[in-house]
Amino acid sequence: MTYPTQPKASHFINGAYVEDDAGAPIDVIYPATGEVIAKIHSATPAIIGQALDAARTAQVEWAKMTGTERGRILRRAADIMRERNHDLSVLETWDTGKPYQETSVADATSGADALEYFGGMAATLAGQHIQLGEDWVYTVREPLGVCVGIGAWNYPTQIACWKGAPALACGNSMVFKPSETTPLSALKVAEILVEAGLPAGVYNVVQGLGDVGAALVSDPRVDKVSLTGSVPTGRKVYASAAAGMKHVTMELGGKSPMVIFDDADLDNAVSGAILGNFYSSGQVCSNGTRVFVQKGIKEAFLARLTERLGKAVIGDPMDPNTSFGPMVSARQTEIVEGYVAKGVEEGARLVTGGKRLERKGFWLEPTVFADVTDDMTIAREEIFGPVMAVLDFEDEAEVMARANDTEFGLAAGVFTRDLARAHRVAAGFEAGTCYINTYNDAPVEAPFGGSKQSGVGRENSAAAIEHYSQLKSVYVRMGDLEAPF
Ligand code: NAD
Repeated sequence: MTYPTQPKASHFINGAYVEDDAGAPIDVIYPATGEVIAKIHSATPAIIGQALDAARTAQVEWAKMTGTERGRILRRAADIMRERNHDLSVLETWDTGKPYQETSVADATSGADALEYFGGMAATLAGQHIQLGEDWVYTVREPLGVCVGIGAWNYPTQIACWKGAPALACGNSMVFKPSETTPLSALKVAEILVEAGLPAGVYNVVQGLGDVGAALVSDPRVDKVSLTGSVPTGRKVYASAAAGMKHVTMELGGKSPMVIFDDADLDNAVSGAILGNFYSSGQVCSNGTRVFVQKGIKEAFLARLTERLGKAVIGDPMDPNTSFGPMVSARQTEIVEGYVAKGVEEGARLVTGGKRLERKGFWLEPTVFADVTDDMTIAREEIFGPVMAVLDFEDEAEVMARANDTEFGLAAGVFTRDLARAHRVAAGFEAGTCYINTYNDAPVEAPFGGSKQSGVGRENSAAAIEHYSQLKSVYVRMGDLEAPF
């Protein structure tokens, strides 16, 4: 059977779909059933070369357009994405297994926000005039050139747009490589951009595994690399980019703390813990997977959490009522099962879940461990699945030291009614993205990214512009120039 998910061809280069059957085959699998829903090919060196050449050529003309013209195209693409939100969300659900209830509000819509926001900003990008007596300096904000974007599998449309929109607004071109696990929706983003008027070659998509990513990163035609992925991949990509002195943005993994004080609103805290652990079946980089609960409300928190988890609707991801879907792949399911076994083995108390669901596809129950201690594997390593670790604490000083005792620094959250404490705790967190009485909001207006091992650079907001452009300073002398001889 041919599914409607089968793309016209594997790659999108120079404004058109392109195939090269010589590339290694990749099966695209619907996580809810395990069925193969599309077959594509990995990019060969010839395809990679075509994409980079197209991007290099197109970038020169694209950068000559005014910011207003570039921005208009991005905003038109945003409008098309919103009009097609339903179809794009269904495709995203096929690709990732995430429930339509989520994809219809968090994927194409978030991509459209980025296109609209950076589209609006394109016309405002400018340099500065710096007066030096009668002499002066002016700065020019220039694009970097060809940017490579490499994506993870949890938010394929969003990642394709979060990288593409600021890159294109600044006058760069892009070659985007989606995750091999979720290759479909980035092709739609490329199609829509061209439909909105983007010149051929400015945004290209090539498919493949890590080797294709590595070939792109090391290619001398590339000026910047933006990766969303795990810390081990980030280390490799950063090192390879450094050899060519390329600019980088690294959006990597986390093991973020969520600190819930006795005085927190219990239901809000439980909502935060649910959003920060079970949305997208826990496959979110910024998840607050170390949930520190102050001893006074620990039992009430666990009771309310268990009760609320009983209301999760686990089932057909296409059903708008379904609120909890499968894991993305068989491999990720096995990895998470391994962590659950480790949790039990190392003495954590399994409060709920922990089992595979008896059905086709890659299904795991929402899982909560209590009495977790800082040294346990499930409290130290990123699991990237629906597994919450609840840890106890007595006081603020103690919990802050423990919350920050991690190599990661992506996100952190605090729930309390004490405003002074909330801000003190946020100030003390060693993390790039912090939340007070909420969790995992990621509006395009706010910078998003990590500190420590979790990353370099920021996506979204005006801050992203700094990572997709560079300043040229031009010194102007009005009078005569003196020299020592
Ligand atoms: P991954 O690191 O395995 O792969 C990410 C991407 O890198 C894929 O496209 C992969 O093909 C590519 N890749 C792998 N090896 C490469 C190499 N040597 N050179 C170039 N590219 C290479 O990550 P994943 O399993 O797809 O995604 C999950 C990870 O992503 C988690 O650690 C999660 O925290 C992280 N993530 C971070 C953010 C963020 O914004 N900080 C967002 C989503 C996911």
